[in-house]
Amino acid sequence: MNDSGCYLHKASYVVPVSADPKLPAVIMNGAVLTENGRIIEVGAYDELRGHDALEVDHGPAVLMPALVNCHSHLELSYLARLGQGASNAAGDITGWIRTLLAERAKEHDPQDVEMAAWQTLARLYAGGCRALLDIGNLPESREISKRFKVNSRFFQEILGLTSSGIEAGSALIAPVEDDPELFYTAHAPYSTAPELIRQLKARANRHGHLFPVHVAESADELEFLATGQGRFRDFLEERGAWDGSFVAPKQSPVAYLDSLGALDELTLCVHCVHCDATDIAIMAQRRVTTCICPGSNRFLGVGTAPVPQLLDSGISVVLGTDSLTSNPHLSLWEEMRLIAQDHPGLKPVDIIRMATRNGAAFMGLDRELGSLTPGCSASFLAVSGDMPENASGSEILKWLVTAGLEITTEWVE
Ligand SMILES: [Zn+2]
Repeated sequence: MNDSGCYLHKASYVVPVSADPKLPAVIMNGAVLTENGRIIEVGAYDELRGHDALEVDHGPAVLMPALVNCHSHLELSYLARLGQGASNAAGDITGWIRTLLAERAKEHDPQDVEMAAWQTLARLYAGGCRALLDIGNLPESREISKRFKVNSRFFQEILGLTSSGIEAGSALIAPVEDDPELFYTAHAPYSTAPELIRQLKARANRHGHLFPVHVAESADELEFLATGQGRFRDFLEERGAWDGSFVAPKQSPVAYLDSLGALDELTLCVHCVHCDATDIAIMAQRRVTTCICPGSNRFLGVGTAPVPQLLDSGISVVLGTDSLTSNPHLSLWEEMRLIAQDHPGLKPVDIIRMATRNGAAFMGLDRELGSLTPGCSASFLAVSGDMPENASGSEILKWLVTAGLEITTEWVE
């Protein structure tokens, strides 16, 4: 389909994920009118059929916005075998990191890394993902998604808890301090020294960059920040990444990051599995966005994020697949299915918003993507599969968040 002229896309269901309170969550026998690659109007087919437009009938499908994946590590795709089958991590995240680092240290062809990452990106796109927040250690990973039809933002993450690690991290950022085209972030409060976190966040804020950071993923992280001991301490010593210069803040990961000035509306707190009411209150006050990765959390056995409590406190929640090394599937449909299973009380429409509009808003793409709203891109999805026959609007919403990998997506553009 070309991107000029006027089209009227009709389908049994339209799920606009719109901020417009006049539009229902599901428009039965709905339609989307587009012109020159933009959405012009969304509504009931009977109301829009009078327009002079080429009609495209998508039949019993659901028309809805493209999906947004707010957390992944494409450069790890070549190690996908680590995320296959049943996890043996059983909550021991350091054991999984140990295996991951051992595999990365082995000799490998950089072309294999690149090809696997492209394949993953293509699969994400085939599954309806149109925007991606990607994180990696390798500077060359910022090239992976360039020229690909996904709005991707790559962040190079910095680690280092020892004096020499801090020096190396600072030396990496210093020459690019004023380059707004290069995006950097801190890996996690257990792996990046406070000096580096402060420096990276200050740099990000100066450029108006987002700041995605892993937070409160495992109980081991809480123990390490509270006491300086536990599996993370053993792991850091074993790696030679411990020289005693890091002093445990005796705080929760969230409170600690807040004390470093790292939490604000540009911050994406990724995982948030182990957050109590105080942590949630801090995050709400700082207006951070939280990114939940149910598939990865489940694979690593680290626990379940308190999503209902996050929503109740008014915090925006988005979804991430994380990498193929901790998730057998990189599918936002599957993430929606898992989050619905973990929290049966959540409203399907809230879960769909996490995978679409909320992520687009955090990435600053909501005028383009994330909802079927006049002015947004006419690149959206026609979703089908084994849906219930003659389903009501609420049955369709429930199907969208429970069908997981059974869902078939087609791009409308
Ligand atoms: Zn991650």
